[in-house]
Amino acid sequence: MKIKSAEFTMSNSEVAKCPKDRLPEYAFIGRSNVGKSSLINMLVDQKNLAKTSGRPGKTQLINHFLINKNWFLVDLPGYGYARVSKKAKKTFQKFITDYFEKRKQLVLAFVLIDCRHEPQPIDMEFMQYLGESAIPFNIIFTKADKLKPGALERNLASYEQKMLETWEEMPQYFITSSSKYIGRDELLDYVENVNDE
Ligand code: GDP
Repeated sequence: MKIKSAEFTMSNSEVAKCPKDRLPEYAFIGRSNVGKSSLINMLVDQKNLAKTSGRPGKTQLINHFLINKNWFLVDLPGYGYARVSKKAKKTFQKFITDYFEKRKQLVLAFVLIDCRHEPQPIDMEFMQYLGESAIPFNIIFTKADKLKPGALERNLASYEQKMLETWEEMPQYFITSSSKYIGRDELLDYVENVNDE
């Protein structure tokens, strides 16, 4: 997919106030500092559409960006500061779970994971929550430039092993680096194909 236009539409903390359009939308979510803003900026090829900073937890809103006037990229708040609880729903802010449970336009979610890290309970719990809520999701492993190819392969293999303790199969995943422009075409082509289905 070629990006012809990408514009900020609105920020909200209530799903009821999100855009009324029926356009398909794709949500991006992950732990604070995972590289979500950088990834979004890479995808749309703009330096500053999504704000980046080292300051964790700053984006506390549902942000809609209209892409090519025919789909929404949705930037959701970073999680990871709430304590992990047995009841996943309580771990994540209500407006996030509301978004996932009520937003009919949502096609799928991309859960961002830093490729350097061991599986983290909060990510596992979040994916578990998505699974239980029957929300389709893919994984995006970020910051791939930070690992040598062998180490990346080993980390992904151990991530998959951990996932297979609770999942029947490893969800589809993408490997990206925003600083090296890795994974951009694969992700955009994937969204285009899903949109065409
Ligand atoms: P967010 O909090 O998830 O939106 O994360 P940011 O996009 O603000 O990135 C957090 C930090 O990681 C920043 O210092 C970025 O420069 C850095 N970062 C993000 N993506 C990459 C990447 O692909 N490679 C490298 N080396 N650093 C990255």
